[in-house]
Amino acid sequence: MGWLGLDDTDHLSGGCTTYALFEMMQQVPNQYHVQSPRLVRLYPFASRRTRGNAAVAVEIVGTDYTELLTFLEGWWNEKLLPLKGQISKSDKSDRPQYPSDPGMVWFEQPPSSDFYWDCVTREVAISEVPAANKSWGGNGVIGATAAVAWPAMKYTYEAIAWRTEDSVAMCRPREVDLTRLAEVDGHPETFMSRDLRTNSILISPRGNCPVLFGLRAKTYESAKTNSHYLAESKLTEAVAGILVFKTNQATDDHLPADSQAVVQSVTIKRRGTVKIQCQCNTILMAFAESGDVKLLAQWLKLDDHIMYNGLKNSDGTIHLEKILVIKTAADRQRPRCQECNVTLKSMGKNQPLRCPKCRKQFPASWEFIQREPPYSGWVQPPKDSMRHLAKPITWP
Ligand SMILES: [Zn+2]
Repeated sequence: MGWLGLDDTDHLSGGCTTYALFEMMQQVPNQYHVQSPRLVRLYPFASRRTRGNAAVAVEIVGTDYTELLTFLEGWWNEKLLPLKGQISKSDKSDRPQYPSDPGMVWFEQPPSSDFYWDCVTREVAISEVPAANKSWGGNGVIGATAAVAWPAMKYTYEAIAWRTEDSVAMCRPREVDLTRLAEVDGHPETFMSRDLRTNSILISPRGNCPVLFGLRAKTYESAKTNSHYLAESKLTEAVAGILVFKTNQATDDHLPADSQAVVQSVTIKRRGTVKIQCQCNTILMAFAESGDVKLLAQWLKLDDHIMYNGLKNSDGTIHLEKILVIKTAADRQRPRCQECNVTLKSMGKNQPLRCPKCRKQFPASWEFIQREPPYSGWVQPPKDSMRHLAKPITWP
């Protein structure tokens, strides 16, 4: 037995790492058995990340690997090497696009899972990659090796259905049975297949990519049954195939433990983006598209106690992925004059209070009003702004 890993084959004309793996599985010599496909998301801030930053791996069972390696060599030269240097297209073109630099690795024994943990939590250099039995290509070997090294202690599943070559070549609009999609979405073991708020279909990518849909589920059975149910509808276009991947999506593997902080100040910037300065000098950022996270962040005040989690960006700020109010600082105000019902005013520092209407004086004092946070538990961005790796807060 051994493991094949693959990464960084995304490119403008519709290459896609999962499809490359699917194609390879169709063509592998038939004395080999291919099993346990996996889809692994890596460090979201990696500077050379591909679209979605996902790598794939698969287990290949056989007795003698000579012919397999010959096949892989040919397949690499014919199908993957030509993708090198193509520029991948991002939906959000706010960062420089790197030319794809595909990588493929073959391990007879998976490397230590430490390498996976490095690749999901920080930037990793190609010089850090453990040696494979055979390795092809460039930067993509990092993700390819991480996918093989993934220990899969926490996991979910994603069933991916690919479009036929015709549909891709002719750039036909995607057709998925929306009624069945709503049914599938209501299944307790599927998740994040549809954003009911905007009614957008999260499971179908945009652009000319061979993926028709990806359906996420907590169990293998649910991913398989529901994806086939969706694909077999007359209202869904023909698919070239479906494969259920075990994945690290929705595991929070990229995050450290939750942290606590006390708010020093809150600054609201362009488009409602919030900068929270904490008393420990940490700076937390809640971005415009983060929905409830942004709204809660805007509500915070000096001395509020919070818990949070997120990834540290290269500028040292933490990009919030979830936040919880533990304790709020009370608002204070001056009492009212009991006769006039007018708020008393201070006459100056260390001076008593005075009613602006009847001029009666009172000893200086404050009334404290407890602030109720607009959300009582953890809040998270809306589904369509969550990272693939982020675990829904409603899960145990
Ligand atoms: Zn008064």
